Amino acid sequence: MHRTSSDGEDGEPADAAQFAALKEFRSAGRGFWSDVSEKDWNSWQWQLKNRITSLPQLQRLMPTLTPEEYAGTQLANTKLALAITPYFFNLIDPSDENCPIRRQVIPRIEETRTASWEMSDPCGEDGHSPVPGLVHRYPDRVLFLVTDRCASYCRYCTRSRLVSNATGYDFHPEFDKQIAYIESHPEIRDVLLSGGDPLLFSDDKLEHLLARLRRIPHVEFLRIGTRIPIFLPQRITPELCAMLKKYHPLFISVHTNHPRELTTEVREALGRLADAGIPLGNQSVLLRDVNDDVTVMRALLHKLLMCRVKPYYLYQCDLISGSAHLRTSVRKGLEIMKALRGHTTGYALPQYVIDAPGGGGKVPINPDYILQRNANRVVIRNFEGKVFEYPEARDGTPLFKPSEDFLAPELV
Ligand code: SF4
Repeated sequence: MHRTSSDGEDGEPADAAQFAALKEFRSAGRGFWSDVSEKDWNSWQWQLKNRITSLPQLQRLMPTLTPEEYAGTQLANTKLALAITPYFFNLIDPSDENCPIRRQVIPRIEETRTASWEMSDPCGEDGHSPVPGLVHRYPDRVLFLVTDRCASYCRYCTRSRLVSNATGYDFHPEFDKQIAYIESHPEIRDVLLSGGDPLLFSDDKLEHLLARLRRIPHVEFLRIGTRIPIFLPQRITPELCAMLKKYHPLFISVHTNHPRELTTEVREALGRLADAGIPLGNQSVLLRDVNDDVTVMRALLHKLLMCRVKPYYLYQCDLISGSAHLRTSVRKGLEIMKALRGHTTGYALPQYVIDAPGGGGKVPINPDYILQRNANRVVIRNFEGKVFEYPEARDGTPLFKPSEDFLAPELV
């Protein structure tokens, strides 16, 4: 998957050939479901009803299951349920044990191994929860958890303690209490609906919630966090988009990790949301052997822009229990960001962050571009590694004439 050296076909560098292939938009196709009617295949209800949720189903569709996957799938329903929509399943390459799509949704036995620093609630959400299903960690905004269900389950999910209810967390959001809390806190101007996946609700149920939130005068801004356009693009119907556009300003954050997830079906679904005037952002999680590679990440970011989605955050994988096999180093994340900044469109760049373990919130992590601060200058490095100076007094005031010190620079 991650070819980084030698030549590809036609004498092109391997990276260039791989990059071009990753950037292509392809349909997920029909795969094992070629005899299903067009109507059923394009029905989001049919896709949900026919998800792969058990070991026998998975074995039948993928006889190439490794011993690690077999053992992991046997235990999955005690940790985080197995569920994959037929549409998304078709993106898996059954002949590739390291397929980046496969690594995200097929359980592995490593998920049952927990290091002492791993946690069931790595972002400390439960400790910032004034009422069930509402997280109020930042001063002017709240996370409103609406459901514990998703179309498919990501094996590194930060909220796996409650999502899919495999651990018996028994998540029961209480909309009346959640909304009453927001109503009584005028400092809350931004509400992010998440879960689980809010777009699994019917149009009517979701509209009811959005309308109630919209009626609160101090709520300026609504957001929905969802992976549905990626797992189940069939859900993004014209009717859903027409309903959502009544509740502007409404933003949507999608979640995509690998360029192969951006198919022609997904591009069309995202286009329908964008045509409804909904600004779209993307959150990715940096995952070992999925997207911890500059070529893969660049292709993902370029394709997102082509889908009218602004890359928003790149998360260092949280210290969620049993995720060590999917985590990669902060050093690698910084290397990727350094290789992208200046080398591609600024709009394509997400902010790389660590959600501080235990509940400290998002901390932006950047390669070092400031090399030094001296009495009269800030010494900076550009994307090519060249060094420059910006004159400024130590207290930040502009300088009106160069000082002795400035005329004898140390580094240039
Ligand atoms: S879609 Fe989101 S909430 Fe659902 S399993 Fe994946 S990361 Fe977790």
